[in-house]
Amino acid sequence: MDRTAPVHEPGIDGQAFLDHLAEAIRLPTVSHEDRERNDPGDVLAIHAFLRDTYPLVHERCLVETVTGLSLLFTWQGTDTEADPIVLMAHMDVVPIEPGTEDDWDHDPFGGATVDGELWGRGSLDDKGPLIAVMEAVEHLLESGFEPNRTVIIAFGHDEEIGGLEGTKRTAELLRKRGIRPWFVVDEGGWVVDEIPPLTSEPVALVGTAEKGYLNLELIAVGEGGHSSIPPRSTAIGKLAAAIERLEANPLPTHIEVLESQFAALAPRMNRWLRLVLTNLWLFGPIVAKMLTRRPQTAASIRTTTAVTMVSGGVKPNVLPQEASAVVNFRIVPGDSTESVIAHVEKLVGPNVSAAPFGDLRTEPTQFSSTESDAWTVLKRSIEETFPDTAVAPWVTSGATDSRHLRDFAGDVYRFNGFTGDLESLTRIHGTGERVRTSDAESAVSFFCRLIRNAQG
Ligand SMILES: [Zn+2]
Repeated sequence: MDRTAPVHEPGIDGQAFLDHLAEAIRLPTVSHEDRERNDPGDVLAIHAFLRDTYPLVHERCLVETVTGLSLLFTWQGTDTEADPIVLMAHMDVVPIEPGTEDDWDHDPFGGATVDGELWGRGSLDDKGPLIAVMEAVEHLLESGFEPNRTVIIAFGHDEEIGGLEGTKRTAELLRKRGIRPWFVVDEGGWVVDEIPPLTSEPVALVGTAEKGYLNLELIAVGEGGHSSIPPRSTAIGKLAAAIERLEANPLPTHIEVLESQFAALAPRMNRWLRLVLTNLWLFGPIVAKMLTRRPQTAASIRTTTAVTMVSGGVKPNVLPQEASAVVNFRIVPGDSTESVIAHVEKLVGPNVSAAPFGDLRTEPTQFSSTESDAWTVLKRSIEETFPDTAVAPWVTSGATDSRHLRDFAGDVYRFNGFTGDLESLTRIHGTGERVRTSDAESAVSFFCRLIRNAQG
């Protein structure tokens, strides 16, 4: 992999970033689905850690807590007419899935640095970006920088379980104050080393939209009774058949959501690939087929179907009266929760019901502009940090807290200043999450430049 070295801001202390990130990882701010299990003390420990570590930020910004746990910093600019920018991250992390603890080569809450990588749950999602924002603001304050445009920093405490008590409330507060952010930058994009088969060069992927989210519970019912006289198929058999049909019939691809990404990458492609990718009206089906070969690229063009929970049966010799499964869908722009439900109902047939499950249900967002002044500021900040790297839009596959601001903010972008390969995607929420220590200075530099470039 050939890469022009990132350009760092003078005076950035990469080791300080790494030390502080390691400390943040050691505070296990786990968000369990069952809110009762979540200890507010863990989040308050992060507040105290940030207060001790970033004294200038706390001295110069208005610091507020929302519902006691989410953090809102306002760094007032001198121009009260200018719409502020909002930088977002979240303090909580997902749990380690029980049974996978031993799969980690290094303690997920240890913050160890090994062979150029800093390990830990939250290192990339999302404490790395959070610490990078804080380091950047502290650094700018130290160097005497005064913004003319107000900078708002919003750190949620329950993003991993929907942000309903955190950033959703912060968003309501900002809206009530009449704040209309010029642009918002949150997690959900970074510099990938390559995107096979499109390019073997690094690309800064910026989420200009994000997928929607839906859980459906499938329920099959049966007669019950003794297992010695079974029907042709039990409730579990009917459920299994329905699941089989769902997995065999994925939702259609929407190659058009990558049109602007292909346009951005076109100048760096060979002539053949450029011809194919910029003529989707003709080659769309072939390109879609190419991309669906890998789960990471398949997820970028279609609504994904993932059966994540299943239950049924109580005893080996008793016919189950009910069997159920939960299916998680990440909905690509072009589909909707309604169209997914219709697709599922058609496939599972009359013997299995499908109904929404849980509180979280969101539609895919609209696309933010790639022609606006806000885009120019973001793109320039990325290019100043990662020279010779293409900046290309994509659709973030996970849900982010930024969607709570989507209705009243200008452009919303998802990018965090870190680098990785496409495999690192699977380590988010999974086993072995880690960041490259060489990203320390560049991530902080990116946020410094973003804040400064947004002033002009
Ligand atoms: Zn996250």
